Amino acid sequence: ASGYSLLRDPHHNKGLAFTEKERDSHYLLGLLPPAVVTQQLQERNERLFYKLLIDNVEELLPIVYTPTVGEACQKYGSIFRRPQGLYIILDVLKNWPERNIQVIVVTDGERILGLGDLGCQGMGIPVGKLSLYTALGGVRPSACLPVTIDVGTNNEQLLKDEFYIGLRQRRATAQEYADLLHEFMSAVKQNYGEKVLIQFEDFANHNAFTLLAKYGTTHLVFNDDIQGTASVVLAGVVAALKLIGGTLADHKFLFLGAGEAGTGIAELIALEMSKQTKILVEETRKKIWLVDSKNHFKKPWAHDHEPVKDLLGAVKAIKPTVLIGSSGVGRTFTKEIIETVTSFNEKPLIMALSNPTSQSECTAEEAYTWSQGRAIFASGSPFDPFEYNGKVFVPGQANNAYIFPGFGLGLVISGAIRVHDDMLLAASEALAKQVSDENYNKGLIYPPFSNIRKISANIAANVAAKAYELGVASRLPRPANLVKYAESCMYSPVYRSYR
Ligand code: NAP
Ligand code: MN
Repeated sequence: ASGYSLLRDPHHNKGLAFTEKERDSHYLLGLLPPAVVTQQLQERNERLFYKLLIDNVEELLPIVYTPTVGEACQKYGSIFRRPQGLYIILDVLKNWPERNIQVIVVTDGERILGLGDLGCQGMGIPVGKLSLYTALGGVRPSACLPVTIDVGTNNEQLLKDEFYIGLRQRRATAQEYADLLHEFMSAVKQNYGEKVLIQFEDFANHNAFTLLAKYGTTHLVFNDDIQGTASVVLAGVVAALKLIGGTLADHKFLFLGAGEAGTGIAELIALEMSKQTKILVEETRKKIWLVDSKNHFKKPWAHDHEPVKDLLGAVKAIKPTVLIGSSGVGRTFTKEIIETVTSFNEKPLIMALSNPTSQSECTAEEAYTWSQGRAIFASGSPFDPFEYNGKVFVPGQANNAYIFPGFGLGLVISGAIRVHDDMLLAASEALAKQVSDENYNKGLIYPPFSNIRKISANIAANVAAKAYELGVASRLPRPANLVKYAESCMYSPVYRSYR
């Protein structure tokens, strides 16, 4: 059938929700405007939107989330329809119609994905993340509040753009910035209480670490770029041990890129090693090496070692068993580097985390080919399965969406009032357990996304259990079966009857 008749058939038409692949294979290109804007569906029919999303997670995740959400941010000004979230210029929380808020995702738009400073248009990120909180984690849509703190933008193009929807000024910094953020954090607690989760998202490196440290002791805060990434990567590493052998502490890790992702992951791996071995974290850190663009080993990760010339030099000197790319710079795991790690590892674990695909440290094909099929490979951006010497290898995707929706659900259902690193470990553990032998046989170190609601319920239960154990859960008494309880709390998009 022609694409045109498909669009006219109400049983089959999905309007703007047709994916790029479907548009291509069903002759729909040109018949629909280029944007794949599920947000419009979200606007028109919320339950249908979530039903569609839950039932087609694998296919639609790239649309609601990265990479399409980035494009949506870039065009946010022109596709703006109605307020999907709050643009905070103080004292406006009371204008939001919902009172019972459980999760806030907040950005200041300074480092949106790998796209940089998008100012106020960063709103697409909190909106997208929260739709995953609902679809993958089962948090009610009305309990989710997306927030953009508009402190201005340093993006010259936006400042000049007559259609820019945000404040036309350079970013507030230093004390002014700190005061603004503080006012927001206080207002949230005052309006919604102690148990609302505030997820910091896509803040620039310098603010991200500061805010997390500052508010970690007074609020329920979580930074997905630092902590969510750490938890999902640790889960992949732990799962990979089944394939590469040994315990966590038997391995030596080398990171390229010591930013939010790299240091967050390194810190959590060191913590888990320390828990397993009862060795102080100051000691377990010595198993982990981080290299930045200046080929310095970063503090507190600075080891007694002569400086190295480049990544290859570091690989040769350190002989890592696990190589993790988190610098945001593509093509840095060269043939020589992968051949070198393969030369002293039966099965090297290679994680190319930098996004988007063009920035990946290497492709799946390169990892498998250059290691002669020996590498266990996972990446930040998705790669198709690859056949090498008659065997099909399926690369895992170290996607934060595995962790944060279940993690947040666990906090919500236990009424947790603080996030603790042990909860991140609990989330990793629950995720790693979901990898089946069938997955392992394909080289996968993450479970398929099609089971994500079940995965989220298990993560939530493990996180909630930890919250009770640590005494930071306020929902009492503790439900006996936390997995069942988590499942029973999850929102599902069924129509209600109007009588
Ligand atoms: P970030 O905080 O800016 O960190 C990047 C780090 O890489 C900085 O420490 C930077 O330090 C270093 N760097 C830059 N160029 C380098 C080079 N040529 N060689 C070595 N190091 C270099 O950014 P981030 O939030 O950590 O994100 C980094 C990347 O990880 C991004 O591509 C992001 O998409 C990806 N990521 C993936 C996942 C996932 O897969 N689940 C999650 C989060 C982030 P210097 O400038 O001092 O060298
Ligand atoms: Mn992010």
